[in-house]
Amino acid sequence: MNELTAAIDLGGTTVKCAAVTADGTLLHHSRVPTPKTGRGDVIEAIAASVQTLRAELADSCDADVEALGLGSPGMIGSNGYLYGEAVNVPGWCEFNLAETVSERIGLPVTALNDANAAALAELSVSADSRTLALVTVGTGIGVGLAIDGRPHAGRAGAGGELGHLVIEPGGRPCPCGNAGCTEAYASARAVREIAFEQAATWPDSKSAFAALLRAGGPGTEEHRILESLYRAVREDDPFAFVLHRNFCGVLARVASILASTIAPDRVLFGGGVMGSADLIIPEITRQFGTLVMRHVHDHVQIDIAQLGVDAGLIGAAIAARCAH
Ligand SMILES: [Zn+2]
Repeated sequence: MNELTAAIDLGGTTVKCAAVTADGTLLHHSRVPTPKTGRGDVIEAIAASVQTLRAELADSCDADVEALGLGSPGMIGSNGYLYGEAVNVPGWCEFNLAETVSERIGLPVTALNDANAAALAELSVSADSRTLALVTVGTGIGVGLAIDGRPHAGRAGAGGELGHLVIEPGGRPCPCGNAGCTEAYASARAVREIAFEQAATWPDSKSAFAALLRAGGPGTEEHRILESLYRAVREDDPFAFVLHRNFCGVLARVASILASTIAPDRVLFGGGVMGSADLIIPEITRQFGTLVMRHVHDHVQIDIAQLGVDAGLIGAAIAARCAH
């Protein structure tokens, strides 16, 4: 039997758990809702998931896990401490996450930021890459860093917080309390908001996208807006094209900062919106070329992320294997 590592991918809505083999295969994948009732209950949900996993492994193949890799939202240092607050998980604020879970479950635990875990997983399937940045575009913008084969947490877990890099001082308000962050322009939530705000200024647009915006209310979901936007881009709708160009422009700036700072082999983009990667990646690459030195442009590849929703679990297991 391969060496097995337990992995948890903690999110605001679900706790995902699996055993991961050395070649990245998931066994006994499970998911339970993230408790909304405080830190203690979230820790118990993690412990229960790991306990169930170990019982299933013992039953099915007389095997056990040697360590747990735990991917979580929030700024997590290389010591496993969660700095500040992860607002989507109640009570997830200023405590040693790795130590707390390790004491509860009796296994060595490696805790890391979920975006860094996903970056590490992408690195494992990127041939010839040692350093990689993963930009995930969803409700927010998450940046994961894997440098020289290891997750990069930075001082107090603060590395890679480019979702909250201010690109327009005094600009659009951001949920973090600042204004003008990249996330306020190029997250799925922001694109949706901007589309609604600007729909009235393009009264001549005949596209189904413009019609959706005129008819839709605040309840229209982000993914529906983004899908409709990209259908309109394919139909050469000028309004949709401007939104697309601005969206990709902000992501290109994020890529340019990553490329000019750590010069990764690859800057990858992931998230639900990448269903339209055939339009998004070339536009980011084009604008990226105008923002960095030629040498940087020639050596840093912009591409789409390869792994889907399991990247967090796979990367958490890799981190735990590297550490123990
Ligand atoms: Zn912000």
